[in-house]
Amino acid sequence: MKESYLGVNVSPLTYEGIIEEIRSRMLRREQSTIIAVNPEKVMTAQKDPQVRELINGATFQIADGVGILLASKLKKGSITSRVTGVDMMARLLKFAAEDHHPIYLYGAKKEVVEQAAVKITEQNPGIEIAGLTDGYEQDEEALVQRIQESGAEILFVALGSPKQELWIRRNMDRLENVLVFQGVGGSFDVFSGNVKRAPSLFRKTGTEWFYRLCSDPKRIKRQLNLPRFLVKVLVADKKNELNGKEE
Ligand code: UDP
Repeated sequence: MKESYLGVNVSPLTYEGIIEEIRSRMLRREQSTIIAVNPEKVMTAQKDPQVRELINGATFQIADGVGILLASKLKKGSITSRVTGVDMMARLLKFAAEDHHPIYLYGAKKEVVEQAAVKITEQNPGIEIAGLTDGYEQDEEALVQRIQESGAEILFVALGSPKQELWIRRNMDRLENVLVFQGVGGSFDVFSGNVKRAPSLFRKTGTEWFYRLCSDPKRIKRQLNLPRFLVKVLVADKKNELNGKEE
């Protein structure tokens, strides 16, 4: 059962749970989309119903960001750990290599996506990269055709949000051979080694946001969404309690 925060759905499944569901959906040839949800996106969805509809329309909304985890704890939900976009992608790459599903990488700068492909091949022996295209390619029609003809079954789109999600929604019907779509933001930059992730101490303790803030203080504006989000979730919860109904 999905949880809902300020009208935005989040799946409580773990990495393994999502892979299992994807495996059976692929057997049925059903397409799946994965979108990362964080407090910033929930706050945007508050102002923009189209963003909310875009998120809720995905097959799996993963709890990226510690904020969603905290909100689930506050509301006694069942989300027990984060499912980050970059780790979900890593898990899907392993699955792709083991179960022989060719992948396609679309997005980021040319040298970044090329370098990411090299690293992905090194880290996942046997993986088949059906193709790659940088994120500044202009001819969408030609690109869709190229992906469709490549034989790729899993497509990672790294254009940033909501551009990547809009791209997926616009084109997925025409990409019948592709069964899994994940919008992965800056993940190719991480795989290529261009952007370092926070040291594991920060990652394990859920304080990656603090590390990022110290290395890039300008992020404070974006990060203020986190306390605002938690306050809103609590207020909405209280209102529902007073009205005697569940959100
Ligand atoms: N990007 C792209 N084409 C564009 C705009 C952005 O390929 O037209 C890429 C950019 O090079 C970067 C990624 O999209 O690799 C955006 O990463 P960001 O961390 O900003 O995304 P977020 O995860 O914050 O949505």
